[in-house]
Amino acid sequence: MVQYCKQCGRCCERWGWGQEGTADDLVPWVAGGRRDILLHVAVRLASGHWTRGDSIREEDIPSVTRVLYWQDPGGRHLRSCPFLERRGDGLAACTIHSVRPAVCREYSPWRCTDGDYL
Ligand code: SF4
Repeated sequence: MVQYCKQCGRCCERWGWGQEGTADDLVPWVAGGRRDILLHVAVRLASGHWTRGDSIREEDIPSVTRVLYWQDPGGRHLRSCPFLERRGDGLAACTIHSVRPAVCREYSPWRCTDGDYL
């Protein structure tokens, strides 16, 4: 049975803040100058050096070996996704939906046996 997202926001609240990304996620953000997103990303380069996403240039992307979500601009890990928004009607929305990372694009909601998620 196909499950559709009901915008309850619980998936993003529970798992949206401690995910691994890919170097490909960075491509549209760097090309589009999305510093608002990149400053919440931790990036490790082939040299082993960790840096914040907004310091990455297009030519650096092939040397990215690890991408972590999400952090505050000071480099501290967040316990919630900074792009999850609760609207007045109670529904949850992703404020970067059109450019959200692959881990979010490829995620599917499901119904757990205890009925907790849908
Ligand atoms: S980026 Fe969007 S889809 Fe991904 S966890 Fe945050 S709010 Fe959810």
